[in-house]
Amino acid sequence: MKKPVIDFDLCIGCGSCVEICPEVFELKDDNKAYVKDEDKCNTCNCEEAANICPVEAITFTEE
Ligand code: SF4
Repeated sequence: MKKPVIDFDLCIGCGSCVEICPEVFELKDDNKAYVKDEDKCNTCNCEEAANICPVEAITFTEE
């Protein structure tokens, strides 16, 4: 199963991934996006979130 991973060094906290996949991503107080529920990836379109990320901080791992 594909799981989204965020590179915190790249993330600029723009919030785009949270807008597209609110079930999967959340912004925290440090203004970085976090994966809160990676298993929801199959029910939404995290590919879209990865594509819209302006700094390409979202990648996927296979498990
Ligand atoms: S879209 Fe990319 S830069 Fe923007 S909050 Fe999400 S991971 Fe961070």
